[in-house]
Amino acid sequence: MSVRPPYPLVVFDLDGTLVDQREPIWKTLHERLGSDPGRRRATIEAALAGTLSYADWFQTDLEMLREAGATRGSIEAIVDAIEPTPGAIELVASLRAAGAAVALVSGGIDMIRARILPQVHFDAVYINAIHFGDDGTIVGGKPTAYDRDHKVSAIRKLALDRGLSMKETAFVGDGSNDIYAAREVGCSIAWGATAHPGLIAVCDHHVVEPHMDALRPLLMGEVVIP
Ligand SMILES: [Mg+2]
Repeated sequence: MSVRPPYPLVVFDLDGTLVDQREPIWKTLHERLGSDPGRRRATIEAALAGTLSYADWFQTDLEMLREAGATRGSIEAIVDAIEPTPGAIELVASLRAAGAAVALVSGGIDMIRARILPQVHFDAVYINAIHFGDDGTIVGGKPTAYDRDHKVSAIRKLALDRGLSMKETAFVGDGSNDIYAAREVGCSIAWGATAHPGLIAVCDHHVVEPHMDALRPLLMGEVVIP
């Protein structure tokens, strides 16, 4: 059945939503690659307290990973163990085929999108990028301007560019960094059994099915025949 999607703009988070990476990828990378836990904790606390900007946190994080010996190869090996969430690839394709614009707004890293969802086309992507030298070492990166409370700014921009209101926009996420975005859209969905309680509290829906087909009644306007 083909029905015009009820929300012409659908925005997804990546880690824990479109891919099965339940904790922020940064936490996984630091723990697996063995960066200095004390320094990392201090950096997170400073970022949360507002004394360290997101861009400075990002650069400090990359520096810590580089010092721990992280390379393109070691990061790729961790990323390659991540699986797409069942049904995610098909859902994005169906939404776009039905005429919705689909965007990715993530505080993770673009390598995950590129390696785990290479066949998925997004109308817009806002995410961090790590840059590597020819020898595979980290030489820098580009922080997203749109993580945490700024995810909502990306969604406003995407809606405005398309002449849409926030009420015509749907957002799917799982983390505490998705709360601001979820509050502002017409349809907010907390994804998964491990979604952050604070996010579940502000969302219109909390979906705990393991397969993203469960989102089709909400996002595709498809009728479920029991
Ligand atoms: Mg997430």
